[in-house]
Amino acid sequence: MDAAIKSIRPAKNNEPKKVETRVVETRPAELDPAEFLAAAVRADQPRPSRAEAEAAVLTLLSYIGEDPDREGLLDTPRRVVEAFDELYQGYHQCPAQVLDRTFGETAGYDDFVLVRDIEFTSQCEHHMMPFYGKAHIAYTPVERVVGLSKLARLTDIFARRLQTQEHLTAQIAAAIDEVLKPRGVAVLIEAEHTCMSVRGVAKHGASTFTSRFTGMFRDNPAEQQRFLSLVRGPNR
Ligand SMILES: [Zn+2]
Repeated sequence: MDAAIKSIRPAKNNEPKKVETRVVETRPAELDPAEFLAAAVRADQPRPSRAEAEAAVLTLLSYIGEDPDREGLLDTPRRVVEAFDELYQGYHQCPAQVLDRTFGETAGYDDFVLVRDIEFTSQCEHHMMPFYGKAHIAYTPVERVVGLSKLARLTDIFARRLQTQEHLTAQIAAAIDEVLKPRGVAVLIEAEHTCMSVRGVAKHGASTFTSRFTGMFRDNPAEQQRFLSLVRGPNR
């Protein structure tokens, strides 16, 4: 993870430049807090066994025309299921727990806190292919602040599930809103989707931007603009 923390007061005489990136603000249906405040999978939830999951990989190997018995593929089902365990570990983690430990000492800090360039990899729910990029998260604390690495961990928990970029964006914002009850949250995610770059239209390098603003960021276009300027600003 390569997150940079920026000083967020723009210097005087250094008016933020207009952001030229087109940002699509996502407004999905209201999220049910139950959806993101607990682990997505209960420990006692019935699931197929590991052997059954490996058998499903064998089926896929045969489907593409492979001989699953050839030497190079003998361990592939096990490896694929292990990779799934890693890529989808977010189902077993609780987003609210990550944000649970907060600090009350804000020393009168009254501006937003921005963590920029949180790298993530997620899997699109339509093709189960990776999309990856960076999340930029800001929130304005009221009394409680959270350790900065926790915003990166929160991003990872949601990213390590099947996702759409829009939903990922909204979930991060909603979890911070719900747990920290800040004056506002701003989340901007830029990502490249391999389901678009290596299949389908096969366009490399196309970025998709999604954003979600709540509270003061939603209500005050100037704050929104300041956030976007710091994320996409001239010194990038
Ligand atoms: Zn896709």
